[in-house]
Amino acid sequence: MQQTKLFTKTRREDPTDETSQNAKLLIRAGFVHKEMAGVYSFLPLGLKVLEKIKAIVREEMNNIGAEELVLTALQDKELWQKTDRWDDAKVDIWFKTKLKNGTELGLGMSHEEPLVQIMKDHIKSYRDLPVFAYQFQTKFRNELRPKSGIMRGREFLMKDMYSFHTSEDDLDDFYSKVEKAYERVYERVGLGDRTFKTFASGGIFAKYSHEYQTLSEAGEDTIYVSRAKNIAINEEVYTDEVLNDIGLERSELEIAKAIEVGNIFKLGTRFSEPLGLQYLDETGKAHPVVMGCFGLGISRLMGTIVETWSDQGGMVWPKAVAPFAVHLVSLGNTNDVVTTAFDLYAKLKSNNIEVLYDDRELSAGEKLSDADLLGIPKRVVVSEKTIAGGKLEVKDRRTGVVDFQTVEELISNLRQ
Ligand code: ATP
Ligand code: MG
Repeated sequence: MQQTKLFTKTRREDPTDETSQNAKLLIRAGFVHKEMAGVYSFLPLGLKVLEKIKAIVREEMNNIGAEELVLTALQDKELWQKTDRWDDAKVDIWFKTKLKNGTELGLGMSHEEPLVQIMKDHIKSYRDLPVFAYQFQTKFRNELRPKSGIMRGREFLMKDMYSFHTSEDDLDDFYSKVEKAYERVYERVGLGDRTFKTFASGGIFAKYSHEYQTLSEAGEDTIYVSRAKNIAINEEVYTDEVLNDIGLERSELEIAKAIEVGNIFKLGTRFSEPLGLQYLDETGKAHPVVMGCFGLGISRLMGTIVETWSDQGGMVWPKAVAPFAVHLVSLGNTNDVVTTAFDLYAKLKSNNIEVLYDDRELSAGEKLSDADLLGIPKRVVVSEKTIAGGKLEVKDRRTGVVDFQTVEELISNLRQ
C-alpha cells in the first residue's frame, strides 16, 4: 500500500484524554479512533493488526477441532432470566435497550445462554457430543471507569468458545487441549515468555478457573508468579490453602502486575440445567450436558502487545501481527529515488511481501519518525545515498540494527 493513499494521518502530540500507553500510541499512529471513553473504532492499520491476531487465534481453535459461528449481539431477556443473569443486581455490566413495543433486550456481554439455546436444536444424544463452537464477537459491557485504552472497552472484540460434553472427563481432556492452544497463541503474538497460566476463582462448579496473565506494569491485576514453574496465582485467591493445593510456596513467588488476556472456565451444568440442554446416553437416559467456556480478549491482546512492545519512538510490532512486514521509505524527490523506490515497491508486492510504501513528499525527519511510530518490523530506505552505494538501508525496528542489503538479499530475508 502507498502511504499517500492511506487516509489516516499521524500526530505528534499525545491525546490529552488518554493515560494508557496503548491508546496514546495507537491514536497518534492513526490505528484507532476514540469515539468516547472505552469505545474505539479500528482504522485501516489497526484493523490489519486485529485481523492478524484473529487469524492466529482462528487457526489455533480450528486446530483443536472447534467450529466457528457468529451469534447475535441483541439478546432475549427471557432467556437470561432462566439462568438468573438478567437482573442488574446479579450482572451489573449490561447495556439494555427496548423494542418499540416496550420489550426489553440486552446487548450481549457474553454468550453462554444463546448458544445453549441453539444447541438444544442440535444435541440430542451422546453421539452428537462433544461439540466445540467459537466466535469472534463484539461484546458490550458497561465497565465502570475504562482507563486502559483498548485493553478495557465498553465495546470490544472477544473470541469466545463454548464446549459441550457428556462427562467431566471429556471436558478435562478438551480443557488441556485449549490450554496448549492458548499457549501457542500467546507465543505466536510475541507474548509467550511473559504470559502465565494463572489460578483464579472458579465460579460455582470448579474450584478454579484459569486466566492467562501477561506481566505488565499497565496491568489492572496483581498476580503471584513462579517463573521457574511457569505458573501464577491471582491475588484474589492467594491463600495458604490455595498455595497448598497447587503445591507452591510463598518464597518461590514474586508479586507482579499483569493483564488478563484470556480466561478459561469449567461451567459444568450451570447453564445446561436451567436451560434444559440434555443428551440421551446409550441406555436412553437423559443427562444435562457438561460445558466449558474459553474467552480470549482480541482487542485487549492488541493493546497488550503495544504495552509490551513499544519504546520512545513508538510501537514495535512483532512480525506475526504487524500491519505490514516492511516499511519502504523514500527520502528525496529526485527522479532516481522515486523510480527506484517505486520499482522496489512493485517487486516486493509481486513477491507477496506486505509493504507500506511511504511515497509522501515530506522531510526525511518526518518520514523516519513516522516509521518509528508505526512500528513496522523492517524499515527500508531508498535515497540518493543508497542508490550510489548500490544497496538498500535496512533497519530492524526492534533491535535498531542497520545493515545494507541488495534487493535480492532483502527479498530472500523477508521470505524466511
Ligand atoms: P476482567 O476481569 O478484566 O474484567 P473478565 O474476567 O470479566 O475480565 P471474561 O468475561 O472472562 O473477562 O472475558 C474473557 C476475556 O475477554 C478476558 O480474559 C479479557 O481478555 C477480555 N475482556 C474482558 N473484558 C474486557 C473489556 N472490557 N475490554 C477488552 N477485553 C476484555
Ligand atoms: Mg476473567
